[in-house]
Amino acid sequence: MIIAIDGPAGAGKSTVAKILAQKLGFLYIDTGAMYRALTWKVLENNVPINDAQKIIQLAQGIKIDLRNNSDGSLTVMLDGKDVSLAIRQARITQFVSDVAKLKEVRQVLVQMQREFGQKGDCVLDGRDIGTVVFPSAAKKFFIDASAAERVKRRFEELKVLGQSVSENEVAGDLANRDKIDSTRETSPLRQAPDAIYIDTTDLSIEQVVAKMLGFIR
Ligand code: C5P
Repeated sequence: MIIAIDGPAGAGKSTVAKILAQKLGFLYIDTGAMYRALTWKVLENNVPINDAQKIIQLAQGIKIDLRNNSDGSLTVMLDGKDVSLAIRQARITQFVSDVAKLKEVRQVLVQMQREFGQKGDCVLDGRDIGTVVFPSAAKKFFIDASAAERVKRRFEELKVLGQSVSENEVAGDLANRDKIDSTRETSPLRQAPDAIYIDTTDLSIEQVVAKMLGFIR
């Protein structure tokens, strides 16, 4: 069984996806982490962000492994190296949407996501899971929240990671990524027609998870 979760940046998708996967005993697949891992590789190799050909070449040779740990955390392995923390850096967040908008990059990563998904029951979160990656997913959710609430959540998340950014910078990043993600030509961020829309602005994490479980069961 596949559960697809899409929505804009900072809406809390990965938080609820992780909990949901744990509760259901499903695999959790963070597809954003895959685009972030590729972006890390691009920057490590000093490839200019506008060199689409080089980025596509890197994507075509990439090996990504997502490991679900027993404590609920996720380890992201890139070409055998643990990049779980590195991919959360601001420099990655700044450029990831420019990497993710390339059609050929998406072809490679979507293929990988489908292979991961075929391993069994899983929860995937991203931008195009219900529309493109698994259009026949058993359950689809579109998780949203007001812009102000999303900024607040992401700001708190980054604080926990030890990143000192201002709320203004977070707001700028979210707006920039949402714009690129929803206006790109290839599989833009869209709610699938059969997805359940949940506005989480005034809901706690537990309430969102309970709501989703209610729809699944
Ligand atoms: O989920 P997260 O915010 O970590 O995703 C980082 C970026 O990866 C998004 O802003 C988007 O550009 C890209 N992404 C995507 N398609 C997905 C998941 C993420 O384009 N399925």
